Amino acid sequence: MRLSNALPEALLPWFARNARVLPWRKNRNPYRVWISEIMLQQTRVEAAIGYYERFLAELPDVKSLAEVSDDRLMKLWQGLGYYSRARNLKTAAKEIVSRFGGTFPSDAETLRTLPGIGAYTAGAIASIAFDRPEPAVDGNVLRVIARLTECREDVSKECVRKEFAEALRAVYPAGSCGAFTQSLMELGAMVCLPNGAPLCGECPLAEQCLARAHGTSAGLPVKPEKKARRTEEKTVLVLSCRGKFALKKRPAKGLLAGLYEFPNLEGFHTAAELRNAHPDWRMEGAPVSAVHIFTHVEWHMRGWRIECPVELPEFVWAAPAELETVYSIPSAFRAFRGLAVPAEQRDSLF
Ligand code: SF4
Repeated sequence: MRLSNALPEALLPWFARNARVLPWRKNRNPYRVWISEIMLQQTRVEAAIGYYERFLAELPDVKSLAEVSDDRLMKLWQGLGYYSRARNLKTAAKEIVSRFGGTFPSDAETLRTLPGIGAYTAGAIASIAFDRPEPAVDGNVLRVIARLTECREDVSKECVRKEFAEALRAVYPAGSCGAFTQSLMELGAMVCLPNGAPLCGECPLAEQCLARAHGTSAGLPVKPEKKARRTEEKTVLVLSCRGKFALKKRPAKGLLAGLYEFPNLEGFHTAAELRNAHPDWRMEGAPVSAVHIFTHVEWHMRGWRIECPVELPEFVWAAPAELETVYSIPSAFRAFRGLAVPAEQRDSLF
């Protein structure tokens, strides 16, 4: 595949006129670029902005991130999901301090040796923060290039991503590498939209685009069929004892590792079954139902508010305000918040 120098020539002036004002674009500090790129990997821009500003206000540099406690880090990340991203950020920050004296490496190859930094993030940091000619090929960029060149190969294949990256590398404009990377991302996010809905009439690449010329953009890019998610049913127990609520820390590995959750049981259990198993529990009100969708699994949950006479030792017991400010509880359990935290005591993190 070959791309033309007409690509950056058309994109850069368009980006200069149309770039959104976003907090991570205020300057090219590599730490700020890094945090934003990791947050944006699974999160929409609008949703990420508040998290980004809170995160930067509390952890403004590599050193503060390397030293933050795990629980506080999880609290700052709570609601963003994919928590391994946050754990990798801290591990990488510690490595930047120990291996590089706290100074960010500027070349993509060294960046890729850090936890959680793959080809895409390394390219984004190297080009945006250090103006290196390093492509950053994410889903948006794959879509733009697949349509521009009318590529009918499966873009989930690593060899296709590499082919796109090499073709882009050859046309990176010296002195505007960061702007070129961002212009490709911006075009994919704002104009060359997914699901067969590109705004070709507003596109600076319209005259170069093969998919537009042949009317094939709706079927591009080609992706493999998604596998069906499995479903798990759970009974969530919002256990209360003298105004405090039971929490359990999840295992250190796997889904939602290290976060706190309301105790829960596999499968749906009726009120009668729960009462029979625990005669001293008092069920309060009707159950609350919720569904949470992860990448590979769906949790179908039914939650009960239950008064129990003693604080069971296998759980951590938290006051309502601590559920909000101390313990990181994933958004999968957000629907059960109303069973524990009065509306006037809630903040925006849980
Ligand atoms: Fe995408 Fe249309 Fe632009 Fe082609 S012309 S890159 S399909 S928005």
